[in-house]
Amino acid sequence: MEHIVIIGNGISGVTAARHIRKLSDKKITIVSAESDYFFSRTALMYVYMGHLKFEHTQPYENWFWKKNRIELKKGYVDKIDAKNNTLLFAEGDSLKYDKLIIATGSKPNKFGWPGQELKGVQGLYTKQDLENLELYAPNNKICKRAVIVGGGLIGIELAEMLHSRHIPVTFLVRESSFWNGVLPSEESAMINKEILSNGIDLRLSYNLKEIISDENGQVKSIIIQESGEEISCDLVGLTAGVSPNIDVVKNSDIETGKGIKVNRFLETNIPNIYAIGDCAEQHEAIGNRRPIEAVWYTGRMMGETVAQTICYNKIEYKPGHWFNSAKFFDIEYQTYGWVWAQPKENEERFYWEHESSKKCIHISYDKNTREFIGINNFGIRMRHEFFDKVLTEKKTIEYVLEHLADANFDPEFYKLHEKEIVAKFNTENSTNIQLKKKSWKRIFSA
Ligand SMILES: Cc1cc2nc3c(=O)[nH]c(=O)nc-3n(C[C@H](O)[C@H](O)[C@H](O)COP(=O)(O)OP(=O)(O)OC[C@H]3O[C@@H](n4cnc5c(N)ncnc54)[C@H](O)[C@@H]3O)c2cc1C
Repeated sequence: MEHIVIIGNGISGVTAARHIRKLSDKKITIVSAESDYFFSRTALMYVYMGHLKFEHTQPYENWFWKKNRIELKKGYVDKIDAKNNTLLFAEGDSLKYDKLIIATGSKPNKFGWPGQELKGVQGLYTKQDLENLELYAPNNKICKRAVIVGGGLIGIELAEMLHSRHIPVTFLVRESSFWNGVLPSEESAMINKEILSNGIDLRLSYNLKEIISDENGQVKSIIIQESGEEISCDLVGLTAGVSPNIDVVKNSDIETGKGIKVNRFLETNIPNIYAIGDCAEQHEAIGNRRPIEAVWYTGRMMGETVAQTICYNKIEYKPGHWFNSAKFFDIEYQTYGWVWAQPKENEERFYWEHESSKKCIHISYDKNTREFIGINNFGIRMRHEFFDKVLTEKKTIEYVLEHLADANFDPEFYKLHEKEIVAKFNTENSTNIQLKKKSWKRIFSA
């Protein structure tokens, strides 16, 4: 019987295993060095914040794996011997495969800062990071201040987590405004305000110079590059982005760039070896997307796709329209399509912000054809299905505004804001768009 071995029990590896099982009787083994069972990395913050127990982050009961004949092996793969189809483990044993799926995820970036390996200096990625956080920052008696380095989605999550335990946080952000390489200036400014309003000591345009040790090899302070200021702290969170975790393919013939290079079928350059999820890098980016996408749902889609290919239904990875979501303290964020930090030449923008500075929408559209290109929603939830359809059917900005009632989840939103949004657009553009009533059946029965 063909043996499929998967390195990594994250969303990508586990989805591949589940779908291979649905489609075949092949022998399946998932290997992980991190945890016995699959857990949801995105929910780690809620464990620290006390909303969930760690067990609740495990979407499948422990019996699920045996029942579905998916073998789980705990161990760290040191080397892939592709010539002999064998994995060699750090623990000394080995495992043969017929086909191998590499789904080893990401690891936090460390830029060679002096002191980055000290105790109390960590990323927020693994189960062990969560355990270390409990050790070094369980409360504000043991951790009198934390410093977070790097203003992205994980940095702001860590700030919220520490804040929930009343630990003072200094947040060093290299950019002049939060996440402004991704967000347009309006949204970025709104999130700056949100961070500050939560009492976080936000330091924009500041970099870490070094981390200073106490006599026990534990962090005691950091020094800021630009000002030379020394800030005492008991925890340093390194959240300056992540990179593909490709240690396992070092010293092998598997082609790498920043990640493990794959074609549209998620095949590496070595027959019978595939790579999926955060660790995979497309030879050529798909449309406007990045060649490496470290997001949950693309890992899941790659897992489903590779399972088909392995089970003799070779299909290309086609991720569809870009979307993403996150949370910045109390403000939920969703994006559908493309709203770049800076508009491209053919783009026009429409921006509306509520006076509370907690809600906004930002729409990008083509100034010649009026085609809708993308939307950012903050503090407002919009329907994925609606925007997927709008993007596929290349609807106009006018169509989107007319049908805002179909786009959003929240009946209150209609009452409160839709008229105001459309009126603002009409004034700015000398148009006369009229809001249509909600028409779910008409839109989605087709
Ligand atoms: C705190 C946090 C919040 C996030 N929030 C969001 C979000 O809101 N939305 C979103 O879309 N994405 C979010 N992400 C990103 C998302 O979690 C990742 O894109 C996703 O988990 C990647 O899944 P994966 O299966 O590719 O890899 P991973 O989940 O990283 O799994 C890889 C596994 O492989 C194991 N492994 C690696 N090398 C070896 C080896 N040599 N031997 C054995 N095992 C090995 C690792 O230990 C790990 O268990 C978040 C990430 C973090 C850390």
